[in-house]
Amino acid sequence: MENGKLKVLVLNDMVLFPKNEIRMEYDNIYDKEILDLINTIDEEMLLVNPINDGESFNITQLPKVGVLARLKLKLNVPNGKTRVVIEGISRVEIYDYEKSDALYVANYKFPKKTTSKKEKDYYNVLIKFIDKYIDKVPNMGNAIMSQIDKTYSLGELCDLVTTYINLDFNRKKKYIEAIDPIKRTELLIEDMTEDLRLIDLERKIEISVEKGLNEQQKEYYLRERLRVIEEELGEVSSKDDEIRNLKKKASKLKCPTKITTRIRDEIARFETTPQASPELAVIREYLDWMLNLPWKKYTKDESSIKKVKESLDASHYALDEVKERILEYLSVKQNTNNLRSPILCLVGPPGVGKTSLAIAIANALGRNYAKISVGGINDEAEIIGHRRTYIGANPGRIIQGIKRAGTTNPVFIIDEIDKMTKDIKGDPASALLEVLDPEQNAHFSDHYIEEEFDLSQVMFIATANYLDQIPYELKDRLEIINVSSYTEYEKLDIAKTHLVPKELDEHGLTPLQVVIEDEAIMHIIRGYTKEAGVRELERMIATLLRKIVKEILVEQKNNFYSIDIKEVEHFLGKPKYSYLKKATKGDIGVVNGLAYTVFGGDILPIEVTLYKGKGDLILTGSLGEVMQESCQIALSYIKANTKNFKIDEKILKENDIHIHVPEGAISKDGPSAGVTVTTALISLLKNKAVDNSIAMTGEITLRGKVLPIGGLKEKVIGAHRAGIKKIFIPNENLVDLDEIPEEVKKDIKFISVSTYKEIYGRIYR
Ligand code: ADP
Repeated sequence: MENGKLKVLVLNDMVLFPKNEIRMEYDNIYDKEILDLINTIDEEMLLVNPINDGESFNITQLPKVGVLARLKLKLNVPNGKTRVVIEGISRVEIYDYEKSDALYVANYKFPKKTTSKKEKDYYNVLIKFIDKYIDKVPNMGNAIMSQIDKTYSLGELCDLVTTYINLDFNRKKKYIEAIDPIKRTELLIEDMTEDLRLIDLERKIEISVEKGLNEQQKEYYLRERLRVIEEELGEVSSKDDEIRNLKKKASKLKCPTKITTRIRDEIARFETTPQASPELAVIREYLDWMLNLPWKKYTKDESSIKKVKESLDASHYALDEVKERILEYLSVKQNTNNLRSPILCLVGPPGVGKTSLAIAIANALGRNYAKISVGGINDEAEIIGHRRTYIGANPGRIIQGIKRAGTTNPVFIIDEIDKMTKDIKGDPASALLEVLDPEQNAHFSDHYIEEEFDLSQVMFIATANYLDQIPYELKDRLEIINVSSYTEYEKLDIAKTHLVPKELDEHGLTPLQVVIEDEAIMHIIRGYTKEAGVRELERMIATLLRKIVKEILVEQKNNFYSIDIKEVEHFLGKPKYSYLKKATKGDIGVVNGLAYTVFGGDILPIEVTLYKGKGDLILTGSLGEVMQESCQIALSYIKANTKNFKIDEKILKENDIHIHVPEGAISKDGPSAGVTVTTALISLLKNKAVDNSIAMTGEITLRGKVLPIGGLKEKVIGAHRAGIKKIFIPNENLVDLDEIPEEVKKDIKFISVSTYKEIYGRIYR
């Protein structure tokens, strides 16, 4: 095609040469005009640079030469922008521009192809120049050479090389405007010659400087150059400078006198250690730690108890006990002068807000915070550091956290305190004890740092999932605060007051654009999440909003979204969990127990069956030792009471009994399934099903007494979620019912028992 008409894209600060590519990123709301312009892959356009500098221009300031280009790639990237790659094809002459709305359109034609003898000569000269240029200019390597194709015309060769040369925008524009390849080659040779001249000059100066220097001066000169280069690069300068810097820092550091002395000694050691010694790096690193630890750097606690309360209430719903404890601490602190920070330990299932509340406490008090996780740690050096003699030694996580926090009195969060292990490398729990013990932690000594660091002003907050897995020596020192599962209604409130507003904000949406109705949130809670906390719920809300944002942008929809149940399913797909359990007669030999799992509480159906055999007991599934014992006890209890339960003894003698606890249903061992196993066995042996809206929990003894169990609140909330209507609980757990939210209690009937006979009586009456 000789000529044509195309849309124009004006580039204000970039130049695209033919045979080259540019990448640009657009924020697709604001650069809509440009996006409209280049819509489909392979679409062609004209790229031009305005003649005048500056942002604004008019039609008369557009040049007569541009580059015909095509859209090679258009990609919507996750940050909400659109990335395009445009490839230059060839120079074109533009004979007129038209303005249509906000866009320009131009008529263009291709310049005439010329092949003269002169062009051939210029081609050879240019190749020679390129050779010379590559020789002299560092970093110019073979990249160019490998790209030069023998079939290139002079103009194409010129364009290719130009992209490798350092030119400013205005000079590049000159290259674009030069249609005649000979003219462009001249420009290029001019620029390359100038580059070469500068490089030669630099060399000459260097040689003459070197000649005039003796050895010592030469070293000095070279060092100086190194210093300049390193300074340029922002790296540490020579050892002298380093020493100067270290001393300057040391003089400014606020720290105990003992530390000042230690630092001074280490700097002296640094000065006398030869440059080549590997020890130098070790000392340097040590000094780096010592000089950057916050030995005496305090933040002032917010003194207004009211403000702290407001701040905590704003960031987290409920969790009253923890909030209360923090406010108590502040109140007492205001009355006395020297109060130790409490060492709190928040215990509860994942996602109930333990860690985020700890961070919120730091924010409310105006303290910095540090967070470490000790889950899976089996080496005490992780806590208290390695001695410096150990290669690659580092301080432990406590000192690392303190350095990150940057103050002497941060809130220090220790996550997963129940997941440490103990082995030959040592016992991290006892190391942590030293850290948390208020009697000792004012003199905490890390193996690497070797000097005492005062941790007494740190407010430690530990978190754990299971109380009984926290090493007992630590449990002693901690103020345990239980944070339990949320009920559906609490989750709904958290979503409405915190999660939805937070996520709307993070997705750049406002409540004027999107409203999620209560029933829709409830639908997400019940159908798309199964958890004790609200982490999954938060993620689902985020997913929903992300999809809405995408729809708004891609489909250019600008409606108001009111999300109901139907819309939830439209955006999130069909629900993953079915939550409305219909009460049925249930199966023979299957009874619901209750367990405390990673989801918080949940129902744990126990299955039993029998087949011809010799009266053996077979156990499968996830049963720990204690549970296996429970099963034995349950069976023995039944065998001893066959008459009372009206069970034919022959069945027990002539069959094997198989008890199964579904895999993965329970994450810890315990005796609380005792009554459930007993009931399932009786159901099987009497051939009578138990209603599946009934659940039960309680330990059983050989004589049929029902003993109390732990975690009732979690279990009941889990049972409620699963649609259970009636729960048998041990008498001694009656007190725990106080903790259970009313909205759960009103849906469930609780029957407290002290012996198994009472359960039997109620079920088989
Ligand atoms: P955990 O440490 O208990 O596993 P996180 O602190 O990580 O839980 O909480 C997960 C998410 O749930 C966070 O985004 C947090 O803000 C939110 N969240 C949990 N509980 C609440 C609450 N009571 N009020 C507001 N947001 C909460």
